Parts: sequence; structure tokens; C-alpha cells
Amino acid sequence: MEIAPGVYLLRVPLPVSHLDYLNCYLVEGKNGWLMVDTGWYTQQSFQALQNGLRDLGLDFSDIATIVVTHVHPDHFGLAGRIKQVSPHTRLLAHKWEWALIESRYIRFGELQQQMGGLLRRHGVPEPKLPAMQAASLPVIEFVSITMPDEPLYGGETICTGRYELEVIWTPGHSSGHICLYEPTHGLLFSGDHILPGITPNVSYHVQSGDNPLGDFLYSLQKLRNLPADHILPAHEHVFSGLSRRISEILEHHERRKEEILSLIHREPGAAYDVSSRTTWDIPDLSWDEFPPQLQRIAITETIAHLEYMRWEGRVRRIQHEGLILYGAA
Ligand SMILES: [Zn+2]
Repeated sequence: MEIAPGVYLLRVPLPVSHLDYLNCYLVEGKNGWLMVDTGWYTQQSFQALQNGLRDLGLDFSDIATIVVTHVHPDHFGLAGRIKQVSPHTRLLAHKWEWALIESRYIRFGELQQQMGGLLRRHGVPEPKLPAMQAASLPVIEFVSITMPDEPLYGGETICTGRYELEVIWTPGHSSGHICLYEPTHGLLFSGDHILPGITPNVSYHVQSGDNPLGDFLYSLQKLRNLPADHILPAHEHVFSGLSRRISEILEHHERRKEEILSLIHREPGAAYDVSSRTTWDIPDLSWDEFPPQLQRIAITETIAHLEYMRWEGRVRRIQHEGLILYGAA
């Protein structure tokens, strides 16, 4: 699908995710193409990419550069596999994502332990801990690991010879998440930062920094006045109306903050208890029916909102017998 002259969208299926596919974008260049995000590491995804390239008269060796918006498996998973068949392809990612590759996909034992400790302090009952702590492990098989060739920090321009794309650092969903902006056609490659229908998960965890939701909301504000006519997200569909979508996402988090605040209004609670009483957009499942992975996301998202309100001075954090409780300030 051609989005703009020389800019194509390839849909890469995501077999085991609640999202149907990843949008991989290809941008034409003079000496090779640019690929934005790759898809999971599965044979089916690899084949889908290969077929999409073939339809354009290309193969992997025509990809000069891969930029990953962040290193979650659906964006980064195939990067190593592509580099196996096309060793000269350069991989670029924000410097803060580099450390995540090592700790999440190579030496993940330590991170898991730290995550277990964090979940325990935030009230997760002991019997639920092992499953929740290990909930992110299965995704490791969907990543073919490679290290980036060059770091990005934000503010650079990536030239393909035909297009110039500006790197914008947008932490929040991941600490080194980036977007790419192409001014001539007003294209914003938004990764998972801005999606047309869903909001990305923004979680507090051991690698998120102190106030990930604050980072995320600030990163949204930063893009608000960008003259972008076409938003090219990593999931769902290409859309327009950047400022309106940003307002909707900001309102979503305002509502969630208010709901969470109302739950700790009478008495302080641990994030686990607060999230079990929060309304989640997951139809037909009660809290106890959520799989461990979903409960974990819900809890860490709740902490992100609580910590944000703590920075605002609306919530206080209380240490109580090894537990962290939050109460209204
Ligand atoms: Zn994604």
C-alpha cells in the first residue's frame, strides 16, 4: 500500500498478539531503502515481509537502514533475522533501548527478580507472584537478537537520498521510543506512541524511570503542533487529525487518574488492590479471570498513574510493613 510517493506500508501478521498486525513502513532512497519497524521473529512474519518486498521488486539486501521505534518484540523481533540475510543493513535505535535488549532478551534473570520484588511491594499476593513475574518470558522466542549499529538520541536527521526524516525522542511507552517526522509530505511515523484507536501501555517498572506517564504526556504535548497530515502508526491504520487524537489520549489518562484517585479517597491502598477495582477495557473478563500478563500490565499502569499524581502533589506514598500504599494527599 503506497502512503506517499515512495512510502509503502507492509502489514506483518502478529500470530499470538491481541493486535492483528504490525505496520512496517518502507521509505525509498537513492542508495537503498529505509525500513521502520520489523514485526515478530516468526517464519510467517518473515515470509510476509519477504513477499511484500518482492511485490515492490525488492529483497532484504535493498534495505540500507532499519530504524526501530523501540525494542518491543513486535517492532524489533525480526531485525536480527534480516541482518543475517543482509549483513550490510544498518540498525538504528535510541540509545536507551540498547540496554533493554541486553536486560530483557539476553540476561533476563536479574530483571525478572527485580520485577518480582516490585510487584510484591505493590501488593501482589504471594501465590500470584511466580506466574506474574515470568509473564513476559514467552515473548523472548519472538526476538532474533542483534545489537544496533548506531545510537539515536533525538534531533538527528536520517537521509535516504530521497527523504529526510527527523528523529523525535518520545519516551513513555518505552524509555527510548522514537517517532520519525518527514516534513515535505507531513508524515509522522508514530510507532506505538500515537495510535488511532487504542492507547499504548505506559507502565511503571524497574526500567521505566520515576515518572513514565509524565514522560509520555510530555512527549504527546511535544508533537501537538507538528504540521503532520498523515500519521503512520505501528498498529491499526494510517490516519489524520494529530492534535485531536492527542487530546483524546490526554483525556483518557485524565479520566483514569480521576477514577484511581476516587478508589484511594477513603483509605490508602496498594496498587494491586487499586487496579483490581479499576475499570479496564477488557470485555467479558473479571479481574480474577485476567491472565497473569494482563494483571501485571494493569498493575504497572496503575502505579504509573499513581506516581504521576504523586508528582502532581495529589497522592502520597506510604511505606507500611514492606508494602507501598497510596493515599489521597
Ligand atoms: Zn507495538
